[in-house]
Amino acid sequence: MNDIIQLLPESVANQIAAGEVIQRPASAVKELLENSIDADSTQIKLIIKDAGRTLIQVIDNGKGMSPTDARMSFERHATSKLKNAEDLFNIRTKGFRGEALASIAAVAQVEMKTMRAVDEVGTKIIIEGSELKTQEPCQTSKGTSIAVKNLFFNVPARRNFLKSNQVEFRHIMDELQRVALVHPEVGFEVFHNDQLQLSLERGNFKQRIVNLMGNNYNERLVPVEEQTEIVKISGFVCKPEFAKKTRGEQFLFVNHRFIKSNYLHHAIQHAFEDLIPNDSHASYFLQLEVNPASIDVNIHPTKTEVKFEDEKAIYAILRTAVKQSLGKYQIAPTLDFETENSFTLPYNYEQNEVVIPKIKVNPNYNPFERELPLSFKGSPIPKDKNIKHWEKLFPTQSDFENIRNAEQHEEEQLSITHQQETEAKQESRICFQLHRTYIITQIKSGMMIIDQQLAHERILFEQFCRSLALHKSTCQQLLFPQTIELTPNDTLLLNDILDDLNKLGFDISPFGNNTFVINGIPPGASEQECKNLLEEILESYRLNTDELKFNRQQQLAMALAKNIGTKRGKSLNNDEMNSLIDLLFACENPNHTASGRPIIHIISLEDLAKKFQR
Ligand code: ADP
Ligand code: MG
Repeated sequence: MNDIIQLLPESVANQIAAGEVIQRPASAVKELLENSIDADSTQIKLIIKDAGRTLIQVIDNGKGMSPTDARMSFERHATSKLKNAEDLFNIRTKGFRGEALASIAAVAQVEMKTMRAVDEVGTKIIIEGSELKTQEPCQTSKGTSIAVKNLFFNVPARRNFLKSNQVEFRHIMDELQRVALVHPEVGFEVFHNDQLQLSLERGNFKQRIVNLMGNNYNERLVPVEEQTEIVKISGFVCKPEFAKKTRGEQFLFVNHRFIKSNYLHHAIQHAFEDLIPNDSHASYFLQLEVNPASIDVNIHPTKTEVKFEDEKAIYAILRTAVKQSLGKYQIAPTLDFETENSFTLPYNYEQNEVVIPKIKVNPNYNPFERELPLSFKGSPIPKDKNIKHWEKLFPTQSDFENIRNAEQHEEEQLSITHQQETEAKQESRICFQLHRTYIITQIKSGMMIIDQQLAHERILFEQFCRSLALHKSTCQQLLFPQTIELTPNDTLLLNDILDDLNKLGFDISPFGNNTFVINGIPPGASEQECKNLLEEILESYRLNTDELKFNRQQQLAMALAKNIGTKRGKSLNNDEMNSLIDLLFACENPNHTASGRPIIHIISLEDLAKKFQR
């Protein structure tokens, strides 16, 4: 037999490597921006067309490259940032693997123009699918411009895998945000389809945060500074009253590299304990500087995890530093009696500020409705849809009769009247609420346990889907419209989904400058919480955008259902439980939530009997 193993051609090897490093346009953006930063640029321009599908161009005013280096930079494992194995433990640059340009050039058509300050002419290189097409001298200014055209032109599978332009562009902006936040000394300009999207002046960290996140961050930020032998901490946390229900504004950088660390997040979160409700997350923008030898960034090219040598010590220092800052700014409780008192202020004074004494003029106001937004009066629920089938699960009147006949001969007279009464209240089956979380009810074959939160989520989800399909939604107009200022990224997001949100019962209109006015909200949503609700929907929608299964409207319906549904911990009376069960079984799919979680659990009499066997 002949030997069959052969070395892969370089271009194929590069394409495989590219699969690891370049997953979507945003990955190319990240690599190019990082290269420009590593080249000591002070001004970087990012030009995007069609969310990066047709063009990603990064123009910087950094060091530039010699003609030979320009050619070399596209080779795999070609880097100016590492010379030997020891350097691997002393990494101060963002890149070091020498893979990015080779990978990008393997899956796109790339045009590079570059020139160093010492040179009189620059170099232009065109390379497509790892194949060098042109290298020639050219006129250009100091620095480097790399244009990546038709990304994945030779990898259709990758191209087809990309999400909508909105989603891909948001990923790009997320990457830009991470790099721009931690490099305020660099100016940035971003263009999308020839329109200026963002312009960031050079400045300090605080200015950069405010420029990126919105002016209202100016008064939210509390500085954190700490210097010890093993770590230097600097940056800002947001005052506790601005904590969010959802994660998303946690920016932690180690040696100017964005990282995610649940462990260190916990340290910061811990410093906020008692200051924010348990289900909220502190927002922060913190930079850690450590000796590069004490961390391992070499885990995976696209991963944001980092291993620390002194993780425990850093945890403790970080927690104390944040706690001290909160205390210094008299936000955290101290032994001082007065501040202790001031501390009982409600957390969301931001909202309280705008509360003007109101007269509620809602003629249809029904306290029960607010308690449990289950009232779908006039909503086109086909009441008898599945319920017949499901009613088979419940004991019927004759089942009761049989039991009674067998057991209660003496009380015959009495039980008949009793029975008539039950007949009158035919709908109200016997329910029991367990730990304000589960509804337990008897069915023919045993017992059924319903998760109240998930059940309501399902009911609302189907209701919202119906409203979308029928273009029929109801909106509860606010007496005092509320304005909300968002970050530029959230503004993009909200603009994308504004139409759909309004179809779901919101009445929101853009007001310019990242500001929106909320005029109305879907029935069942709380007026006081409407800003939170909107932010939560944006966040859940952002997190869900990678779910292929659902279209955008379904995703919004899911997010909204999740956010305004009855929560665990809410006590329900018998009528409420019954109406919840009825509505659940009128659903297309009462068994699972849209995201696939089981809502109902049945324990059969057999199973129960087994438990009592010896
Ligand atoms: P790495 O960044 O890991 O070294 P890359 O493939 O991203 O690998 O880049 C290869 C090399 O090309 C870099 O080490 C650097 O010397 C050079 N280079 C890339 N982009 C730029 C740029 N914008 N300005 C100057 N040099 C660059
Ligand atoms: Mg690089």
